[in-house]
Amino acid sequence: MGKCSKDKRDLYYRKAKEQGWRARSAFKLIQLDSEFHLFEGVKRVVDLCAAPGSWSQVLSQTLPPDSATVVSVDLQPIAPLPGVITLQADITHPSTLTNILNLFGGEPADFVCSDGAPDVTGLHDLDEYIQGQLLLSALILATNLLKEGGSFVAKIFRGRDVDLLYSQLALLFDQVTCAKPRSSRASSLEAFIVCQGYRQRPGWRPDSLKLSSAIVPRPLTSIDDAIEERAIAPFIACGDLSEYDADATYALEEHVKAVSLEPVQKPTAPPYKTALEKKRNGTLR
Ligand code: SAM
Repeated sequence: MGKCSKDKRDLYYRKAKEQGWRARSAFKLIQLDSEFHLFEGVKRVVDLCAAPGSWSQVLSQTLPPDSATVVSVDLQPIAPLPGVITLQADITHPSTLTNILNLFGGEPADFVCSDGAPDVTGLHDLDEYIQGQLLLSALILATNLLKEGGSFVAKIFRGRDVDLLYSQLALLFDQVTCAKPRSSRASSLEAFIVCQGYRQRPGWRPDSLKLSSAIVPRPLTSIDDAIEERAIAPFIACGDLSEYDADATYALEEHVKAVSLEPVQKPTAPPYKTALEKKRNGTLR
């Protein structure tokens, strides 16, 4: 991405570097927490799809260091963070659940969050399907890890079947809200489902979940009948108007030098790593 791209000029992008966050996503979790008080009384947290680790930074800096355990999972290696246990794993793989449970010594989690996003291919249906699978995997992990009354937050893209998703989440949680933090660009379909008050539901199976009527058609059973319903979740824009607008461009504050800031954490396993190694060895053709 070039230096003049929209990302580089985004104020949250710069603020993240100034304040030492590994990614601008940190502000999304901070703004979600200020609206929903997600961290209150939380001791065990699972941060799914966590690299480079800005949500984990927020969690480890906010939760009490002596009593809280943060487990962060990603396909990419996450550079070490104080107070965070990192796990390089695929959230869609069944062994990941066992690995996380072992790290908590079998105790349930209070809060599971997922900011998962696949590498976009540009093939819209495929991208939507993969995003749906990531969300499904995050929810399966959440339903196996959360204590009764626990919370789950995940990134979604408000597509054609989002109403189906809301109604199904409402089967599992007392309160389901669709939230848009001010640091998430209004021009993007990105939002976060904030699910509070987890209730184990007898008879609920992860494969009952239908994220898209078009992609995963399933035969109906009695529980699936309820799952067919569509619902509208309350939509909340979090962060007040005094906070920066992610779609606006701001002039630098007077005392700030107009210099390009280094990333807080360089990518641990960038796709161009092999090319750089080959260049160093003189074997790049
Ligand atoms: N919340 C992170 C932060 O604050 O730094 C940013 C997360 S980034 C938007 C999305 C992440 O999802 C990527 O690091 C990617 O590797 C991860 N991801 C995608 N598919 C995954 C999978 N199947 N298992 C684990 N992580 C995955």
